[in-house]
Amino acid sequence: MSNLILILGDQLTTAISALENADKERDRIVMAEVHDEASYTNHHKKKLVLLFSAMRHFARRLEADGWRVHYQTYHPDNESQSLEAVIANQLKETGADRVTTTECGEWRLHEQVSQWHGRLGAQVEIRPDTRFIASKQGFSDWAEGRKQLRMEFFYREMRRKTGLLMTPDGKPEGGEWNFDADNRRKWTGKPPAPAPFRVEPDEVTREVIDLVEAHFTDHFGTTEDFHFAVTHEDAEQALEYFIDFALPCFGDFQDAMSDDEDWLFHSILSPYINCGLLDPLAVCEAAAQAWYSGRAPINAVEGFIRQILGWREFVRGIYWLHMPEYAQENRLGNTRSLPWFYWTGDTKMRCMHKAIDATRRNAYAHHIQRLMVTGNFALLAGVKPEEICDWYLAVYADAYDWVELPNVLGMVMHADGGYLGSKPYAASGKYIQRMSDHCSNCHYKVNKATEEDACPFNALYWHFINRHRDDFANNPRMGMMYRNWDKQKPERREALLRRADDLLAHLEQL
Ligand SMILES: Cc1cc2nc3c(=O)[nH]c(=O)nc-3n(C[C@H](O)[C@H](O)[C@H](O)COP(=O)(O)OP(=O)(O)OC[C@H]3O[C@@H](n4cnc5c(N)ncnc54)[C@H](O)[C@@H]3O)c2cc1C
Ligand code: SF4
Repeated sequence: MSNLILILGDQLTTAISALENADKERDRIVMAEVHDEASYTNHHKKKLVLLFSAMRHFARRLEADGWRVHYQTYHPDNESQSLEAVIANQLKETGADRVTTTECGEWRLHEQVSQWHGRLGAQVEIRPDTRFIASKQGFSDWAEGRKQLRMEFFYREMRRKTGLLMTPDGKPEGGEWNFDADNRRKWTGKPPAPAPFRVEPDEVTREVIDLVEAHFTDHFGTTEDFHFAVTHEDAEQALEYFIDFALPCFGDFQDAMSDDEDWLFHSILSPYINCGLLDPLAVCEAAAQAWYSGRAPINAVEGFIRQILGWREFVRGIYWLHMPEYAQENRLGNTRSLPWFYWTGDTKMRCMHKAIDATRRNAYAHHIQRLMVTGNFALLAGVKPEEICDWYLAVYADAYDWVELPNVLGMVMHADGGYLGSKPYAASGKYIQRMSDHCSNCHYKVNKATEEDACPFNALYWHFINRHRDDFANNPRMGMMYRNWDKQKPERREALLRRADDLLAHLEQL
């Protein structure tokens, strides 16, 4: 009996469960660049280059290892423009009667593949994705019966389970579970931030760049200066580079933003971890090793590991626990459209311009730009969750529904009622001023709130607080904000709300 093994563009590892017990003589691996997957959202051009090139390199490696691989390269005239059509053709061509695959990361595709058995008349085996450190079942067992799901408690459980940064007698290394209090420094240029790790495009990548330029012209972003790794070996080098040059300062400047530096001390590893070029547990182990060998301090290493072992696993758990209803959540009742400047960067707000422009050039912005600048603005302005979610899904090289949706709909928009944070991450311009040097180069004045040239975040922040009193006034973490708002003179409150109404009426002109 012959078997097709489908490997998706974000499953690029020989450790993928679909390959377990596979037979090089009997089985045929199928990989395909198809229109449906490349175009279901306006994917950044660099993301398309990364994935197509990494897929092509991976297919070559499999062939070199002796596998038979059917690889469909992208062309708009291809007969098969969906994965289902490719598989249907391959079943016909090879006479195979079974398909083996690893479960998809996204609900949308998972639903489609789950129906293949009936639609294609072949046996379809869908195996669990064992690359995650917590299984779906493990997460739902942990969540079962808990009144509140808090990342911090899940994370501690994961530390105990994996033994990462744990002493032999079961205590957290360094005496604390979490060193975030040390991780809030502003960056003023010193120490200098390392340049991002670069791989110059090889022939395969250059071909893919030409293809994307020819067929995806209307997609967001640019292919210029593409320098992502597209092989396992190069992604490993990117990890080593991060540990040597950026990890030591990762913690201190984790929340910092800069007018001059796009990447600061972040790892830029999410595009590789999410598509299978790096294994998340191995990345955490490499970081832990850096602490044990004295190459990086505990606040950096713990903070970094928490992002992967804690946040990354937690958001994936929340996604599968609550989909498909999760995608429809809009508990704050937002109705506003996404301002057009999210696609162009054409705004006088310096922080927004910088974050969007970096996103356009790099298919990357670091966490605090995503959360406290573009995300915060969408929250304060009351943008419809589905529109801001679509934007985040399109513009980043690491974006996949399972990780983007909880981060945006949950963490940023608080549209799920608070699985990702006990209070919304709403902030005025003061926060951005404290963590960056953007404000000193901005058209708007961060110390003003009601005037024509006042920072828009300030009045919008108070408008948000005021219009969501019913949602948040009883939240113990928000009480002080409501007391501060109520303490202000009525004329001041009116002026702030007037200014915010005016901003909301003219969002496109900001
Ligand atoms: C609004 C918003 C949207 C986001 N969308 C995505 C997305 O589509 N894809 C994605 O991978 N991450 C997303 N994140 C999480 C985080 O911003 C990115 O993982 C991070 O910026 C990637 O850059 P890095 O590799 O340099 O991360 P680092 O700052 O170096 O962090 C290390 C690693 O931790 C993991 N990580 C950190 N925070 C998170 C988180 N909140 N959720 C999941 N993993 C995390 C990533 O794997 C990352 O590589 C989003 C965050 C926000 C606030
Ligand atoms: S003044 Fe306001 S809009 Fe301008 S950079 Fe600062 S926070 Fe952003």
